Amino acid sequence: MLETTRTYRAKIVNHQQVSDDLDDCGHSASKLWNVARYHSQQEWDETGEIPSEADLKRELKDHERYSDLHSQSSQRVLEELAEAFNGWFKKRKNGDTDANPPGYRKRGDNHPRSTVTWKQNGIKHDTANDRLRLSKGFNLKSHRSDFILTEYETRPDVSVENIQQVRAVWNGDRWELHLVCKKEIPVEDAPGDTTAGIDLGISNYLAIAYSDGDAELYPGNVLKQDKHYFTRDEYDTEGENGPSRRALRARQKLSRRKDHFLHALAKHIVERCIDHRVGRIAIGNLSRIREDENGESRNWGKRGNKKLHGWEFDRFTTLLEYKAEHGILVDRKSERDTSKTCSCCGRKRDANRVERGLYVCESCGAALNADVNGAVNIRRKITQIPPTGDMSNGRLARPAVHLFNQTSGRFAPSEQVDCKP
Ligand SMILES: [Zn+2]
Repeated sequence: MLETTRTYRAKIVNHQQVSDDLDDCGHSASKLWNVARYHSQQEWDETGEIPSEADLKRELKDHERYSDLHSQSSQRVLEELAEAFNGWFKKRKNGDTDANPPGYRKRGDNHPRSTVTWKQNGIKHDTANDRLRLSKGFNLKSHRSDFILTEYETRPDVSVENIQQVRAVWNGDRWELHLVCKKEIPVEDAPGDTTAGIDLGISNYLAIAYSDGDAELYPGNVLKQDKHYFTRDEYDTEGENGPSRRALRARQKLSRRKDHFLHALAKHIVERCIDHRVGRIAIGNLSRIREDENGESRNWGKRGNKKLHGWEFDRFTTLLEYKAEHGILVDRKSERDTSKTCSCCGRKRDANRVERGLYVCESCGAALNADVNGAVNIRRKITQIPPTGDMSNGRLARPAVHLFNQTSGRFAPSEQVDCKP
């Protein structure tokens, strides 16, 4: 059996009954975020350092606002803030002067509804009736009841078991649940017997390497153009009351276009994998890098700067899992050392370098696309086959480039896109 996780979106059937309670939790998460944000600011002003995740948890666990939510839910809010600070800090260190530190979650006198996460101690799952009991914090228990009893509905072909985490997400209109489940899948159910590795976001948006030696690159240039176009006048129009309506609309449009890009990319990758008879995809997991305890985690250097935001990685991986469902297994693998190791000879040396997107190995002399090198190394994490020697002269050196066509909403090899009459 192979073990993996899947995230299912669920509709809340008894929304009217639970929305007030969920609102309370969502507002509380924003308040706790603000408390921690303020605390971080003070510490920063005094010492010049931002408190770590562990510091925040230690220093705020007795704060009044901490007890509004279940302790694991409160911990998650503090983890999110620490992640946001780390991300910003890294960008600043790498010379990105446009990067802003995480802000406060407040609009006038109102608090927005933040996402609330429950981990296993805060969840009771009634599988027979599709109900979830989500624990409240001590402070919110007093008025209504001890927990929020939600009745949910997922797609009929999904069976929700082994819930690891529940996230309540406000979609702008109503609350919905994201259920993160541990899944075991029989190996023999995998449709193909080959593997692929995916590396996200070094100089291309995505690189994929198949076990037959094919490799493909997916540049994110469309996204960069979009971002430039839709956010260019944001700063001119930002007034005292925050961004203008026009700027907000532009931002929404940008995020819709990005979401469309991610959907199309996930769908296309699954189709390519079916063509290559792939049964299992390994995808580099950024969050596990962060969790490594040996201190190497913070030391991503320039690479970290160009990496995707954690949420975007999660979003894409979830889409990929969703589209690959009942077929290809998606495996999140640690990215440790995958960018430093030579995929041809397997050696990891500090002298190996990346020049204009080309990975050059001091040991064996291989020169291949750096993103593809990363993708091959990630693929190797799920397959026993050792490096085969000289792959640099083959297709790995000249990966096919697939570009997103904004008009058709699909990806196509670049020859087709470039072809002009
Ligand atoms: Zn080498």
